[in-house]
Amino acid sequence: MNNPIPLVDLAAQHASVADEVAEGWAAVLAKTAFIGGPQVAAFEQEFASYVGVDHCVGVGNGTDALEFALRAAGVGAGDECVLPANTFIATAEAVVRAGAVPVLVDCVADTGLIDVDALAGVVSERTAAIIPVHLYGQAAQIELIHPVAESVGAVVVEDAAQSQGARRNGVTTGALGHIAATSFYPGKNLGAYGDAGAVLTGDARLAERVRLLREHGSPSKYVHTEIGFNSRLDTVQAVVLSAKLRRLEDGNSARRQAAFRYGKLLEELPGVVTPVVAEGNEPVWHLYVVRVADRDRVLAELNAAGIGAGVHYPVPVHLTGSFAPLGHTRGDFPVSELLAGEILSLPLFPEITPAQQERVVDVLARAVGR
Ligand SMILES: *Cc1c(COP(=O)(O)O)cnc(C)c1O
Repeated sequence: MNNPIPLVDLAAQHASVADEVAEGWAAVLAKTAFIGGPQVAAFEQEFASYVGVDHCVGVGNGTDALEFALRAAGVGAGDECVLPANTFIATAEAVVRAGAVPVLVDCVADTGLIDVDALAGVVSERTAAIIPVHLYGQAAQIELIHPVAESVGAVVVEDAAQSQGARRNGVTTGALGHIAATSFYPGKNLGAYGDAGAVLTGDARLAERVRLLREHGSPSKYVHTEIGFNSRLDTVQAVVLSAKLRRLEDGNSARRQAAFRYGKLLEELPGVVTPVVAEGNEPVWHLYVVRVADRDRVLAELNAAGIGAGVHYPVPVHLTGSFAPLGHTRGDFPVSELLAGEILSLPLFPEITPAQQERVVDVLARAVGR
């Protein structure tokens, strides 16, 4: 049998930074300084400057980053936060953890992104935040979201976990809202070697609030001004992230080439709907998501042939057990439900070869042709 093709090949990516990481980690070990230190501050500075905002605050993971961004923006008990039903569960979890109530809206079929036309119907004076998710590596239509948020005095909190480096009309995601959260989970475009995340903002006051929240509500040692959390960016992760950040643009452009190649290979293939890039977007292809009929069988055939295809996500937020208390039923968000049954993420990572992509498409063609 051919070698398996993983959904994401982290080993290939590690090879390109192995020496730099080993050197950086040796320096951390020599000092046994595992919390804080110049490496964390350096990465925060580098990533803020890459995104084009004044402040980056490193935290323990992307879910905490979302929760802290919401809390820093003043979201709390009694508030509502609007978010798409088609997202990773963490977007909705962060809202509940901040004490607020998630209000879901549907997505649009061609991109899978939040349906901005649905926003006006759900916002009210109770809406404290709108959370666009830059899903699969392309930005939501932020310029249509801001006016709706403004009309009810809500903040725009970006979920930029899948979009590191993606731009909309020239502006990098993470700099498109009032505050943004991102995740450095290993499989993300900018991935750590464990859990990690960050909050990004141009607002010094919000950044300061997040700094308090991540460290026991403590502005200085043994001074505690509010109940906080313990959720810092580990020093060893900051070393990895700095090394990988220097290669992020190259990695993203390799992803764009690979996506273009899939587009060409799939052009003539009936039964496979290829992803659409919205006008104004420069995507970073966190995931390459196609749509097929009889998806579960197609997925099983790909997996059986050693191809690490996946589904992001098979169950929309409103149909998960944990969000049953919201009281939704099947049919409430029909586009998200339709996509959940048809979407299929093909292997895509910067180092994927044309031969690997051809094999993915061969197996896919056989599966959809049955
Ligand atoms: C990965 C992800 C998160 C959560 O990040 P973690 O670091 O895993 O907590 C949130 N939202 C989206 C859209 C994600 O893809």
